[in-house]
Amino acid sequence: MCKQCELKPVYEFTNKRKVCGNCFINYFNKKVLYTIRKFKMADHTSLIFLKRSEEFREIVLGDVLKMFVSKSGAQLVKKKTKNCLIAVGDSTDLIAERIINSMFEGSLEKLNNVKPVEAKVIRPLYLMLDTEILLYAKLKKLRFNITKRKESKFEYFTKSMEEKHPELKHSVVNSYLELFI
Ligand SMILES: [Zn+2]
Repeated sequence: MCKQCELKPVYEFTNKRKVCGNCFINYFNKKVLYTIRKFKMADHTSLIFLKRSEEFREIVLGDVLKMFVSKSGAQLVKKKTKNCLIAVGDSTDLIAERIINSMFEGSLEKLNNVKPVEAKVIRPLYLMLDTEILLYAKLKKLRFNITKRKESKFEYFTKSMEEKHPELKHSVVNSYLELFI
């Protein structure tokens, strides 16, 4: 049961805490707002551009950014200009994949596209797992697509690791943040 409202849970965290649909959406929104604040991604003066896409990560990012804009006074813009921020839907899964792949290749120092903020690019879903992003999309009844990829060696590797270490992706991204950010 959801501890807060005694309703049927829709999600269980790795620490076994369970939450209902409403509490999950609250948790998700709060965590994205926290990510934006923690990494100083945007403030009330920001113009934020989000590329149009039907992919579930961008669809969810668009939904959460609308909430951020209404709270902060920042603006979403449809046309990319010189001084706007570019929001991309990179999740913990994608970031962890890039970090692990470049470890395999032995080229950690060349690591690109893995920071929460890189020049004008911001990644508000940095601390969210794909499973959480998908669940958010379903709970809010958002329309989205998922591009199916062939399972890579990386995915096979992480799937088998995650059975024993459910925090694997978070740990990879957190270690990276501690070392480099
Ligand atoms: Zn609840």
